[in-house]
Amino acid sequence: MVDSALIDAMAAQDHHRGGAIHVRAPAKINLHLAVGPLREDGFHDLRTIFHAVDLYDEVRALPAERLELGLTGADSPSLPLDQRNLAWQAAELLASYTHRTPAVRLELTKAIPIAAGLAGGSADAAAALVACDLLWGTRLSREELLRLAAQLGSDVAFSLTGGTALGTGRGEQLSPVLATGSYTWVLAVASGELSTPSVYAELDRLRAAGASREPLPPETDTLDALRAADHSALGQSLGNDLESAAISLAPYLRRTLDTGMELGALGGVVSGSGPTCAFLVSDTADATRLASELDDAGVCRTTRIASGPVHGARMVVSPSF
Ligand code: C5P
Repeated sequence: MVDSALIDAMAAQDHHRGGAIHVRAPAKINLHLAVGPLREDGFHDLRTIFHAVDLYDEVRALPAERLELGLTGADSPSLPLDQRNLAWQAAELLASYTHRTPAVRLELTKAIPIAAGLAGGSADAAAALVACDLLWGTRLSREELLRLAAQLGSDVAFSLTGGTALGTGRGEQLSPVLATGSYTWVLAVASGELSTPSVYAELDRLRAAGASREPLPPETDTLDALRAADHSALGQSLGNDLESAAISLAPYLRRTLDTGMELGALGGVVSGSGPTCAFLVSDTADATRLASELDDAGVCRTTRIASGPVHGARMVVSPSF
């Protein structure tokens, strides 16, 4: 692990040479997501086990006169590049907290599918916070960065920390989870998008109509499996209260989940508010096989193989160091 003083020194040196600060942040999946009732502030209390996987969005921060946001990469998706973008909001929030103007050009390179339940927007916000903190030399403490992250969105604090963690409150309060081992996933990415508020609203509607599934059992089995690195027990313990709501809005997900299980996954679950389905497999050979069979079955737009846990948002140190 590189210590933060060293990273600051390297960042300063890189900056001196006119280089950008380069930070990447991972996608997340929810291994277990139990949703409580709707709160007065419009959020739901939840208990979730977050797990960061090695599919990364990247942010480059360069000195600029004012706040500018751009998308780079061959396969750039369409995204708002203004104050509606969480990376933009992150730069503005850090600037206002530290009483400076948000003078930075942020260049995003996206690998995490958008509106897919993988916290891509949160990853961009976390990476932008870390990148601006280094570029501007504001040097906030970890606690301050986590507080700002929580203001930006329920998943942004986890995108900063990564690993495997229990999230409570609306997801922003994190506690460590004792997890051993490494896990390989096949992510079945759907062609559609699902908006998080509409999936939560659909769960409320199903619950009011008495049509939702039984609430999930507590996350104890998932925690035990993670502690013991028991892959098949982890596969069986995966669960998500939002899954029935996501399937209600996007019924094709039922077939994606069933197909992944029939093709031998150890477990499968809709990640977050969906529509990505995450399948746990034993190893990378199994992942390659399952990904190709899911592609052939035509039950998703594309697949990604990813493994976790990995670190949260951090600077990418250039090879010249
Ligand atoms: O915090 P974030 O911006 O990701 O939340 C987006 C929306 O998802 C919220 O406005 C709310 O409708 C829903 N949500 C919720 N309960 C949570 C997290 C999100 O109802 N714990």
